Amino acid sequence: MKHSLRSFTPTLCRAMGVPLPKLAKVDPYLDLSNLKTNITKALLFCPDAFGNHALKKLPELHQSIKESSTHEVELLSIFPPITPVCFASLFTGATPEEHGILHYEKPVLKCDTLFDALIRAGKKVAIVAVKNSSIDILFRERNLDYFSMDYDPLVSVKALELLSQNKHDVIVVYHQEYDDLLHDSGLFSELAVKALEHHVASWKLLVREASKAWKQNFLVSFTPDHGGHIDSKNGFGDHGEDSPEDMELRHFFYIK
Ligand SMILES: [Zn+2]
Repeated sequence: MKHSLRSFTPTLCRAMGVPLPKLAKVDPYLDLSNLKTNITKALLFCPDAFGNHALKKLPELHQSIKESSTHEVELLSIFPPITPVCFASLFTGATPEEHGILHYEKPVLKCDTLFDALIRAGKKVAIVAVKNSSIDILFRERNLDYFSMDYDPLVSVKALELLSQNKHDVIVVYHQEYDDLLHDSGLFSELAVKALEHHVASWKLLVREASKAWKQNFLVSFTPDHGGHIDSKNGFGDHGEDSPEDMELRHFFYIK
């Protein structure tokens, strides 16, 4: 059986030596037990809807991500592959039934999350996200630093500022341009492809700047939530179905 998004939280907790949040019961999807480093810092980059469908269509982008990675993991999203359902599972290890988000809604999660586990372990956490996105809202009301920005480039600016200040142990960085444009202009419209290119460029920039700030004993993850397919009714992009296009993902890690 393939791994799912639920394995991300156990993987990160194991890598950082942090006890798991309560609903994270699945195994890690990446065995980091033979790492020579003890990971103390992490930057988690979440480019929305950047699924394996895009890597298959644009192999040059896949290659470019791999050039700035040390590990690649094949996995499946969680059903239904819709942003808040997926990020809730990614950052809790829980099923949708357990975390309670079963369709498109953005409540503040009351269950135990990765961020609660990190805070209990004494880690300083920052979430930098586009204002009113799922990641901006779902994990509120915790003792961590929230930064709500107008759009992806300003999210990146804030993330770089936080890296240079080096006050946080875990920084979440959320971008949404591709998910926006696949719905509004088509799965691989010229603008949607540009958005994918922007996400890859951001990944490379974040890896480079995290390396400068943290030097070693850190990881950077490329952790999208779901893919997408062409809606036969209108020809635009969509997601939310139990299909390979929507469900198949690759996660990447740069670990040093
Ligand atoms: Zn999404």
